Amino acid sequence: MARSARKYVYFFGNGKADGSGKMKDLLGGKGAGLANMTNLKIPVPAGFTITTEACNSYFENRKKYPPGMWEQVLVNLKKVETSMGMKFGDAKNPLLVSVRSGSKFSMPGMMDTILNLGLNDTTLKALADKAGDRFAFDTYRRLITMFGSTAMGINRQLFEKALERMKEERGVRLDTDLTTDDLRKLVGTFKGIYEKETGKGFPADPLQQLKLAINAVFSSWFSDRAVTYRKLNNIAHDLGTACNVQAMVFGNMGENSGTGVGFTRDPSTGQKKFFAEYLTNAQGEDVVAGIRTPLHIDELKKAQPAVYRELETIYRKLETHYKDMLDIEFTVQAGRLYMLQTRVGKRTAAASLKIAIDMVQEKLIDKKTAVMRIDPVQLEWLMHPSFDPKAKVQVIGKGLPASPGAAVGKVVFLAEDAEAWAARGEKVVLVRTETSPEDIGGMHAAQGILTARGGMTSHAAVVARGMGKCCVAGCTALHIDEGTKVMTLGSRVLKEGDFITLNGTSGEVILGQVPLVPADLSGDFHLILKWADEIRELGVRANADTPADARMAIKFGAEGIGLVRTEHMFFEGDRVQAVREMILADDTEGRKKALAKILPMQREDFIGIFEVMNGLPVTIRLLDPPLHEFLPKTREELEDIARDLGVPFQKLQARNKMLHEFNPMLGHRGCRLGITYPEIFEMQVQAIMEAACHVVKRKVKAIPEIMIPLIADVNELRVMREMTVRIAEEVQKRTKVRVRYEVGTMIEIARAALLAHEIAPQADFYSFGTNDLTQTTYGLSRDDAGRFLPYYVEKGIFEHDPFITIDQKGVGMLMRMAIDSSRKIKKGMKMGICGEQVDPQSVEFCYEIGLTYVSGSPFRLPVARLAAAQATLKRKMKKGMSKASV
Ligand code: PEP
Ligand code: MG
Repeated sequence: MARSARKYVYFFGNGKADGSGKMKDLLGGKGAGLANMTNLKIPVPAGFTITTEACNSYFENRKKYPPGMWEQVLVNLKKVETSMGMKFGDAKNPLLVSVRSGSKFSMPGMMDTILNLGLNDTTLKALADKAGDRFAFDTYRRLITMFGSTAMGINRQLFEKALERMKEERGVRLDTDLTTDDLRKLVGTFKGIYEKETGKGFPADPLQQLKLAINAVFSSWFSDRAVTYRKLNNIAHDLGTACNVQAMVFGNMGENSGTGVGFTRDPSTGQKKFFAEYLTNAQGEDVVAGIRTPLHIDELKKAQPAVYRELETIYRKLETHYKDMLDIEFTVQAGRLYMLQTRVGKRTAAASLKIAIDMVQEKLIDKKTAVMRIDPVQLEWLMHPSFDPKAKVQVIGKGLPASPGAAVGKVVFLAEDAEAWAARGEKVVLVRTETSPEDIGGMHAAQGILTARGGMTSHAAVVARGMGKCCVAGCTALHIDEGTKVMTLGSRVLKEGDFITLNGTSGEVILGQVPLVPADLSGDFHLILKWADEIRELGVRANADTPADARMAIKFGAEGIGLVRTEHMFFEGDRVQAVREMILADDTEGRKKALAKILPMQREDFIGIFEVMNGLPVTIRLLDPPLHEFLPKTREELEDIARDLGVPFQKLQARNKMLHEFNPMLGHRGCRLGITYPEIFEMQVQAIMEAACHVVKRKVKAIPEIMIPLIADVNELRVMREMTVRIAEEVQKRTKVRVRYEVGTMIEIARAALLAHEIAPQADFYSFGTNDLTQTTYGLSRDDAGRFLPYYVEKGIFEHDPFITIDQKGVGMLMRMAIDSSRKIKKGMKMGICGEQVDPQSVEFCYEIGLTYVSGSPFRLPVARLAAAQATLKRKMKKGMSKASV
């Protein structure tokens, strides 16, 4: 007997589904949602889902179905027929189906859908008998358009243009104004286009239509736009898409029919109110594609109150079941409501916070779930600037506030122009009649998006919200002439390159550039971070160089400073002159004289920082960069110094030349400077300790952690530690104040990581400098790698830029070795990281390998705090799971 084939097809209908809501991997988001709704006894037209596994196998077998799949499709199609009381391809009572893609992660508009399959000249008659000629021909022309463009690759514009021509001839504006005769003619024209473009007639056999449609859906997984979308959103390419085949219900069967989309709460603000749009006598594609601007859901409430009440009951039931804000699609066919889709809804960062917090208050979810729900990257969006309320603005038009925020840029009309202009550093606003998935690259490159058509759920709105990008949609007064690259809005005519500003929160379109102000963070922002702080175990510090930075750090939740880069202080005001004198002096005495000028200024810097940090630890790194960074760049500057120092210009010029290094990043910098010119580091330690003693005397606690940069060998640290301790003790004795201080080092050279266990006895703490550690591990210059790294990432040679996200495999291996070997010698040794990699992935990694804290720029701290809490929760969940599986 033949081995039974794997299950590739899952049925749903009659209140029971083969699958469940948990099976997103196999059934995709849409398929899992349909199964779930069916099991919840919510009215869903019957159908079946072909699994993602079948899709993957289709690609592995050179576009052949896996064995048994097609047979299972036929069996399940029979079940759909029974459930709906209709037959596919039947001359009397024909079943029509939709075929839609649906992967694990929502990829709005990126893949293909074909509606109304099963129509041919025979079934058309039956449909016309049942629903009228007009409806039948309208449905047929839609099928030929969708099938022709999606399954057969015919340019959709050919059909669109023929439709436009027909409307022009008849002098009408809307599709719905066309007569039955017009539509009949259009079907003939469309068939002609189909035949001309493919060399074959439109397929009459419904099963052949179905097969070609399934192939098209599978193939759309690797369409250019889907691949781009996945790259932008970090979605794996090997997930595949499921394919949902479902009985058609019609929203375009007259005035008591219609179609709608909505969110169970407001996706822009998160407010708890049903947020949906409805189009009477229309099919879903009309709403999603933004072809007609939909009306508020209240229209349905007025026209069909019973249907509206049912919809309310259903969306509430769904929200209680999913315990999240949902995005729904529904159709009303002749007064009967059907749900077509549900999934967790995309939302803005502000809405994310509000919904999570409200749901905790409503006891739908707990705090931990709320913390897990917020994407740390989204939090960063909230910190983006908005309009300066004092700015005078000249509003020239208004559309729908589709995605909040502000965008200022030059007008461009084509997605490819947006990309090209942005690549040369211009800020642009993409202005389109409506966007389509092909525009995704341009939308990404633009500061904001403005469209003339489409509602809050149009492609532009949904995609912009997902990107955290400002969008004004459905600005109906806007007219665009792509040919001459000119837009008209009210009485204004703007050309490509003119500046406009968008207010995505009010929907206003404003002339020129409006000044922006920093974000004003709401209570929700702080509350979710407070919850995150209650959960997380990883410390969070900030990299801060000034008292102002330190204040910002405290505001964003820093528990200390993980890195003060003292060299930044050397550039302040007229200090650089003294620094230059110090560098160019040719003996110790000369250097000491210059350093004496810098000392009081450094001391003041540290006093300011200690005061702000008020008892929190402050890691201060001694001078790190190569001295040449401070050298005079122009002849005039050199002449000034020669005059000040009273030395001949030529002598100074020769010294300047001598200090030149071929490879300064690997040259005379960090502790190498401290060892060869100890007076520089001595001055810095003196300034730190005098500042600490000064504030302690005034009853402010100070915890200096003095950090030595660029150690490669334990002997370097030994010498630097001895010097530091000697000066620190001297200062304390002189000032008669005791200060708790520590001496530690950066681990930022591969050799230091390898020999960390040798270095540990000399260090009170470590801080991983993953900028330099990445540079020295890869052997690539952090200042020059930008020339080829993006190309590497684009081509998939590197998974990501290791200066943005820690390379866990290589650099991470060195970090693990250093941590483990050192803690064998010094149990519980304090270790942090102060490189720039503070993205959620890197933060999770730092927690996993046992770091004490992460330190990054103050603005990134909220991301770090939330990511750290999520890392803790994930570990707990994993532990819980592995316990459960024992
Ligand atoms: C590092 O190397 O990771 C570091 C924090 O120091 P800097 O970037 O100043 O070299
Ligand atoms: Mg460094």
